[in-house]
Amino acid sequence: MDIAHKLRYEGYKVTPQRVAIYEVLHGRTDHPTAETIYRELHEENPTMSLATIYKTMDIFAKIGLVQIINVGNDSCRYDWDTHEHSHLVCTCCHRVDDLDGLNISAMVKTVEEISGYKIHDHHLLFDGLCPACRKAQSH
Ligand SMILES: [Zn+2]
Ligand SMILES: [Zn+2]
Repeated sequence: MDIAHKLRYEGYKVTPQRVAIYEVLHGRTDHPTAETIYRELHEENPTMSLATIYKTMDIFAKIGLVQIINVGNDSCRYDWDTHEHSHLVCTCCHRVDDLDGLNISAMVKTVEEISGYKIHDHHLLFDGLCPACRKAQSH
């Protein structure tokens, strides 16, 4: 994904800050918070504010570049991977993992049949204890 091209195509300005924010997020699997991204970018971009990161992520989400995962308590995590997948949240260490292999389209079809709604979005999130925390708690 060429971020500069995508921003321009959608009518947004390509700024060094926007590019830096996308580059920090791209390719990682830990679904960072805005604060995490802020901390990682702060040293090289001392003028970048936390608000800029929130605003930039909202733009990215609007144009389909990132997925915003609301993990509850007004806490958001960001995912550059926008293909359809679900998430697991550990209630102990707060890690967020990807979950693939669920038949989401079948689930959506069932929901439509039951409710009569035409579904156009869904947010599937599973809370639990991750394998590492389960192991730690069993000792
Ligand atoms: Zn955990
Ligand atoms: Zn994900």
